[in-house]
Amino acid sequence: MSNLTVVMYHYVRPIKDSRYIGIKGLEYVDFKEQVSFIKKNYNPVTIEDVIGSFENNIPLPPNAALMTFDDAYSDHFKYVYPILKKNGMQGCFYAPAKTIEDKEVLDVNKIHFILSSVYNLDDLIKETKCHFESLSESYDVKKFDEYFSELAVANRFDPKEIIFIKRLLQVALPEEMRGIICDRLFERYVGMEQAAFCEELYMTKDQLKHMVADGMHVGSHGYNHYWWNKLKSQELEQEIDKSLAFLKDINSNSENWTACYPYGSSSDDVVQLLQRKGCKLAFTTVVDVANTKESHPLLVPRLDTNDLPKSSLAETNSWYR
Ligand SMILES: [Zn+2]
Repeated sequence: MSNLTVVMYHYVRPIKDSRYIGIKGLEYVDFKEQVSFIKKNYNPVTIEDVIGSFENNIPLPPNAALMTFDDAYSDHFKYVYPILKKNGMQGCFYAPAKTIEDKEVLDVNKIHFILSSVYNLDDLIKETKCHFESLSESYDVKKFDEYFSELAVANRFDPKEIIFIKRLLQVALPEEMRGIICDRLFERYVGMEQAAFCEELYMTKDQLKHMVADGMHVGSHGYNHYWWNKLKSQELEQEIDKSLAFLKDINSNSENWTACYPYGSSSDDVVQLLQRKGCKLAFTTVVDVANTKESHPLLVPRLDTNDLPKSSLAETNSWYR
């Protein structure tokens, strides 16, 4: 038996009672239900179990499950950690170090909260276009409408307008330009001072240290949350080295370090570099159940929380083998 279901989580919070009711995340009550479902139908394992299974062929229990939480949100300390602890489960937390070291809100998070605060997506696109046009002369960019026809493609969770905004502001435009547009939209739609917002959004170093000391796993999610497969090898190496220094600082086990690709940005070159740096496991956003005999340890697929039922009483679905 070496099947392994790795579940991926991002925001976990009481969304309906929060200031950002449009945020795409998991309701806290649904998380508690899902944890009960997993306990009932799966065998929760630790990252150490999984490393042992990949490295030394030690079999995992049937229907093994591992819980992963991306981006070091304070949600994870406040809501997730107590529930995992109560249920005797380990969580694996992937922290982009910049948010904690430099206290900066990542553009990707600004975009989430902008999108959660917008009522009319067409207005947002018009406004984004205005900002784009006010800046476009200073940057090497295509026409706005060309970006739209290229990038606006719906996926299984989001309509095409949302995908367009995410892709345009996360990756397609030059970094400086998209940073300026994100800041302007953040100020207009969220309107909160960034340092205060940062403090509210992410965990602190002490919280991460505490979780590590209590048996939780914290791994690398880079420093700046860049797309790893779009970096030059030197830049990627720097990203990884800085994130490893951070992990050392919070006393995470540097012998058995693991990673999670920001935006699932793996490639052959990235895998090679992680291998050279001694990374034991790395998680992608490919949607599948892993197998410790067949999967590549540095390309471990995951299921999204939405792929599993959110009721302790639910029947298992097609992902259950
Ligand atoms: Zn991330």
